[in-house]
Amino acid sequence: MEDKKNMLVSKTIEVDMGHRITCHKSKCRNLHGHRYTIEVAVSDKLVTDKGASSEGMVIDYSDLKEIMMKEIDEHMDHGFMIYKEDPLVSFFEDRLKEGMKVIVVPFVPTAENIAGYLFRKLIDVLMLKGIHIGYVKIYETPTSMAIYTRKDWIADGYGPQPAKMKPEVLLLRKDKDGKPYLSRDNSDSGNPIGEIPLS
Ligand SMILES: [Zn+2]
Repeated sequence: MEDKKNMLVSKTIEVDMGHRITCHKSKCRNLHGHRYTIEVAVSDKLVTDKGASSEGMVIDYSDLKEIMMKEIDEHMDHGFMIYKEDPLVSFFEDRLKEGMKVIVVPFVPTAENIAGYLFRKLIDVLMLKGIHIGYVKIYETPTSMAIYTRKDWIADGYGPQPAKMKPEVLLLRKDKDGKPYLSRDNSDSGNPIGEIPLS
């Protein structure tokens, strides 16, 4: 009998990154860093292709790790994340010009906000590969964790807009060079090549 259930699997990596919480009442306003533990979960049915390398898996863990290393580790590890409204931002922007790894973001870099940021960074990359992201979980310390799920993503208004398109799908389109991309807008002029269900 065909197995129709979705399963959730996750992979974890660790990155070192500096930050500060600009207006924090206590020590978190200092320049400091953490070894962040970042877990990304994806969900799907098990691969049933007989003899396939990934038969019996949701996704090959090494494939998920490769995506996480490219999209998270390369982007953040040994960098410093700074809020664009932080009074110190011009100092860090000068360091960025000198080639240092500085990530200027439009939010206070709490674990909660970083989890949302990474979810949004990963969702399109994964969906273009036909992979459904489940959540991004971040441990800032071994005892302090934040999680951002698909429900948060929809509640934050990043999902499809019902006025513009059918709910629960994103449109897969090709640009003029034939490169696939995800569109949230039904009036988009890109060449439609499919739909990706969100659930
Ligand atoms: Zn901190």
